[in-house]
Amino acid sequence: MIYKTMNDYIKADFFAAADSLKAEGRAEYELSAPLSRCCTFRIGGPADMAVWPGDIEALSALVCAAENSGTRYFICGSASNILFSDEGFRGAIIFTTKLKKICVSGNTIHAECGAPLSLLAMAAQRASLSGLEFAYGIPGSLGGAVFMNAGAYGGEMSQILISSEYLSPKSGKISSLSAAEHDFGYRHSLYMERDDIILSAVLELVPGDGDEIQRKMDENMDARRSKQPLESPSAGSMFKRAPGHFTSALIDGAGLKGYKVGGAEVSSKHAGFVINTGDATAADVIALTEHISSVIFEKYGVEIEREVRTVGP
Ligand SMILES: Cc1cc2nc3c(=O)[nH]c(=O)nc-3n(C[C@H](O)[C@H](O)[C@H](O)COP(=O)(O)OP(=O)(O)OC[C@H]3O[C@@H](n4cnc5c(N)ncnc54)[C@H](O)[C@@H]3O)c2cc1C
Repeated sequence: MIYKTMNDYIKADFFAAADSLKAEGRAEYELSAPLSRCCTFRIGGPADMAVWPGDIEALSALVCAAENSGTRYFICGSASNILFSDEGFRGAIIFTTKLKKICVSGNTIHAECGAPLSLLAMAAQRASLSGLEFAYGIPGSLGGAVFMNAGAYGGEMSQILISSEYLSPKSGKISSLSAAEHDFGYRHSLYMERDDIILSAVLELVPGDGDEIQRKMDENMDARRSKQPLESPSAGSMFKRAPGHFTSALIDGAGLKGYKVGGAEVSSKHAGFVINTGDATAADVIALTEHISSVIFEKYGVEIEREVRTVGP
């Protein structure tokens, strides 16, 4: 079969690679895929292509095909920290959500990048391993969590990660990073400064009591349900903590709870969350976050930075 270049962003060789992986049952793809369906914010126009590799080798093959052919692409886990553009994405969004093998051995867990954090926490609990309770209820993948050093309730990825394996897209080489090499900080890892793709990670936990671990997970989940607007689509906390401040307290103090632009609203339950009330556009969310930032700067002289990443078109 001869593949035509789909557009300037998806080249024939990438299309051919996706097609042959699909024929082998090792990938799925969709053209003109509505990104609003693929992210927790339920916002975003169509991506030229959305691809779901079914195994790590298929992920590597797609990334290498994209690099070699000059196809524009972006890697996503569960898209729970992303605001997609209203115009969608020109090129291919490669989702890792089908790569979710989890292997527990002794005190360690080795898992693929797309493994959901809640499933990891449940696997740890079943093995009476403590350390992942904080991650229960975070709707992201392991890869996304390592990428931004996700954390909650006093825990974060940096405390439990011992290594990660990654693909360098340009060379196609697979290498690994030890914990210390990740340069972890608050919502930061070295991966944020590189274009490497996290393939898997090894976590080290400590033996604990299964019932006590479950109790802690339930407590964290109850706290989430009572304090966060989980009933509405969002991408979690919209802003990072500003040094020395709780950003949500600043937003609340500025009287912005319930403030709306179009369909985007500052949650009345948790001022740190911007929610999609049903018909929010990315433009609404950006206009709202710009308004919040300028009010906070005027009132408190504090600059706040978005945590949610904007992607596209
Ligand atoms: C209701 C709600 C509650 C939340 N609570 C928390 C919380 O308590 N703590 C917290 O830290 N976050 C929280 N979040 C935000 C989000 O769930 C986390 O940041 C999570 O770690 C993002 O993972 P993801 O797989 O969704 O990443 P995505 O949103 O898909 O991607 C985020 C970034 O990671 C990169 N990335 C993803 N996978 C890979 C990979 N394999 N290799 C290289 N780069 C990759 C992407 O390119 C992108 O730049 C919450 C979100 C929601 C909606």
